Amino acid sequence: MPDAPLPFFDAIVVGAGAAGLFCAGQAAQRGLKVLLVDHAEKVAEKIRISGGGRCNFTNRELDPRAPHKHFPGENPNFCRSALARYTPGDFIALVQKHGIPFHEKHKGQLFGDRSAEDFIRMLLAECAAGGVTHWQPCRVESVAHGADGYRLQTSRGEVRSRALVIATGGLSIPKIGATDFGHRIAQQFGLKVVPLRPALVPLTFDGGAGRRSPGWRVWRCRCALRPATRSSAWPSTKTCSSPTAA
Ligand SMILES: Cc1cc2nc3c(=O)[nH]c(=O)nc-3n(C[C@H](O)[C@H](O)[C@H](O)COP(=O)(O)OP(=O)(O)OC[C@H]3O[C@@H](n4cnc5c(N)ncnc54)[C@H](O)[C@@H]3O)c2cc1C
Repeated sequence: MPDAPLPFFDAIVVGAGAAGLFCAGQAAQRGLKVLLVDHAEKVAEKIRISGGGRCNFTNRELDPRAPHKHFPGENPNFCRSALARYTPGDFIALVQKHGIPFHEKHKGQLFGDRSAEDFIRMLLAECAAGGVTHWQPCRVESVAHGADGYRLQTSRGEVRSRALVIATGGLSIPKIGATDFGHRIAQQFGLKVVPLRPALVPLTFDGGAGRRSPGWRVWRCRCALRPATRSSAWPSTKTCSSPTAA
């Protein structure tokens, strides 16, 4: 008997976090046959913990004509076309369409009134509206590109697609699914990767402070910055009035 043809999709999106869910839903609603793959048990674990559990989902003060002003980095223009074509106003309209209540905290920051779960349900509903196929948990073992598009070996078998989207997020919090998959794929396809530096640094506490309930804030703390070698003077200690300043 001849082998059954490999499943084929117009686009495969790897990573069912905020970016992957949104991308899969948008592409599918434009008529593409889309497969969304994630290795974790649950979708969008980072949305679940975002904004202290309420999800800081956009900022009203972002200037859609010059979005790059708000994004520091080696290439601030990177976000320009995406954020000029899909503005905070567009996302607010989507949130309103799903009846999610929200409020502004300060400087244009918008948070959900209830829980970040509202935003996960919204993104899943957008995927369902487009008929996205969802494989989860599913490991991607390898990616190859040839004349017939992309071929992925996964824990659910081999699959092909015309386009591939890598939306596997950053490295923070591996215990909820973060991996360096995106960086490895970038290297495999010869894309330039800038040296990685931590952007989020967790503060950990011993003793009494750590036993308090989650969600509390530290308003006055002392931070000691220690260089990797002991040759220079250390520690440098700073008193901070907010976690952000730390
Ligand atoms: C504590 C915390 C609070 C935050 N709060 C906010 C906030 O309020 N507002 C905000 O805008 N941002 C917030 N962020 C930043 C937030 O992480 C991003 O905005 C958003 O979650 C990034 O989405 P993403 O889809 O790029 O990545 P992620 O949400 O990390 O999704 C990546 C997905 O890819 C999957 N994946 C990873 N590796 C593989 C692999 N090898 N194979 C298959 N699947 C894989 C993961 O399981 C995950 O589901 C917060 C971050 C943290 C850590």
